[in-house]
Amino acid sequence: MSTPLTVDPAERPAPAFLHGPAKELLIDGAWTAARSGKTFETFDPATGKALASVASAGAEDIDLAVAAARRAFEAPSWADITPYQRSRILLQIADVLEAHAGELAVLDSLDMGGPLWMTRWLVDHSVEVFRHYAGWPTKIYGQTAPSDPSTFNYTLRQPLGVVGAITAWNGPVLQLAWKLGPALATGNTVVAKPAAWSPLSALRIGELLLETDLPHGVVNIVTGDGAVTGEALTNHAGVDKISFTGSLAVGKRILEVSAKDLKRVTLELGGKSPTIVFDDADLEAAAKGAVAGFAQGSGEGCVAGTRIFVQESVREQFRELLLREMKAYTLGDPFHPDTRMGPLASSQHFQRVSAYLDIARDEGGTLETVGESAGLYMPPTLIENVGADARVVREEIFGPVASLMTFADTDDAIAQGNDTIYGLSASVWTTNLERAHRTASGLRAGTVWINAYADMSAGTVPFGGFKQSGIGREHGIEVLDAYTETKTVMVHL
Ligand code: NAD
Repeated sequence: MSTPLTVDPAERPAPAFLHGPAKELLIDGAWTAARSGKTFETFDPATGKALASVASAGAEDIDLAVAAARRAFEAPSWADITPYQRSRILLQIADVLEAHAGELAVLDSLDMGGPLWMTRWLVDHSVEVFRHYAGWPTKIYGQTAPSDPSTFNYTLRQPLGVVGAITAWNGPVLQLAWKLGPALATGNTVVAKPAAWSPLSALRIGELLLETDLPHGVVNIVTGDGAVTGEALTNHAGVDKISFTGSLAVGKRILEVSAKDLKRVTLELGGKSPTIVFDDADLEAAAKGAVAGFAQGSGEGCVAGTRIFVQESVREQFRELLLREMKAYTLGDPFHPDTRMGPLASSQHFQRVSAYLDIARDEGGTLETVGESAGLYMPPTLIENVGADARVVREEIFGPVASLMTFADTDDAIAQGNDTIYGLSASVWTTNLERAHRTASGLRAGTVWINAYADMSAGTVPFGGFKQSGIGREHGIEVLDAYTETKTVMVHL
């Protein structure tokens, strides 16, 4: 493979948002520096250059942000707003994000290295997510319960209060939208903490929210690293719920800290998803889907299909198709139109993924890499001759790396697919209906795609993990449970 595609530095986008002094925290509708005055820098992984200085929030800033969110929650301006007004504001948010979709996608590509076509697609999806949630406020019903004639019993769905929304670096706008949409639709207020590697789009969204009728303090945005800013938010007694997207290790920490005051918690964590290819599948389509599953977005996706299982009888044929498809994944600057894979998000992350390639060799694996790494660019790698106990088969790598293994029959495919602590997603490739549905039913995963990979709906279907891939669901009807309490009212007549 040739060297990564480049873009003339003069042609790379330089949004006006990046200019000026350090980016501040959004608290109660106003921009403010961290009380400590501390800042950190965020970098462009394609060039290694600093993009902007950003405020690093400490516990005292979290106090202010949570207090603002609490005031906004209790103020008539948000708690008693009509559902119709809340819908209208969510539609305004969708419109203002849509009007700035290009800029938001550029900020994400600069900050975390995803190709522009991909970040743009994710921003467009996020706009639709807000439109989806704009429909909910007028449809959050309680129930009446059967009772004897002397009583009247009914339930109300009420917001939780202040939600701490903590997100990972790999899909900044999308993950924020997935949390703001349902939290706001159900009447909660939010303190959002984006990841330290990619905080810029969240801050720009903060500016855009100020252009809408969203009352001040309903959404506050605090930046900083996990150990200080994230921990202070999770620890804060004034926060009613943490909605977290990130790694399993930090998810466990969130659960531990939240237990102190029994905060509600939604966890969207990692995965080691299986791609299962039966001998009757359209093998060309399956190979395209399988490679997209682990190489699209440089494999920096929670749903990455990093364990590929192919039925023994078609292994060689499928392997050839996989290698051919991997060659189509051109490395390049996120802003080059032909780029399929940008750089990994940071040098720290590049080293982590590279270390897994060494681990695979140490474990006796055979590696097929279609090209060479350069800078933070890493081509796709297929690992063969590793068993189910290999670390590269068990642990989430979060880079463009997958292992190829075989299975004998449907039961074996299900058993091997389930042989993981994770359970976020899976894809099944077959033209046989019985195999498709039996495998989908047997896999312990939150989402199963059949003859597709990583299709997403803008809010309509639930998303989340079985086992150690998470707790709770985002989207679908289930999301209402994640952001509301049910109150029973019993009336003596
Ligand atoms: P991470 O867990 O390191 O960080 C996620 C967020 O948590 C960041 O904002 C970080 O600053 C914060 N954080 C870190 N330590 C904290 C602490 N002690 N208390 C509170 N907050 C803390 O994850 P990452 O490296 O940013 O993202 C990659 C991980 O996210 C992968 O495991 C990936 O699978 C997962 N992910 C899951 C989904 C999903 O929907 N299931 C989506 C995207 C990414």
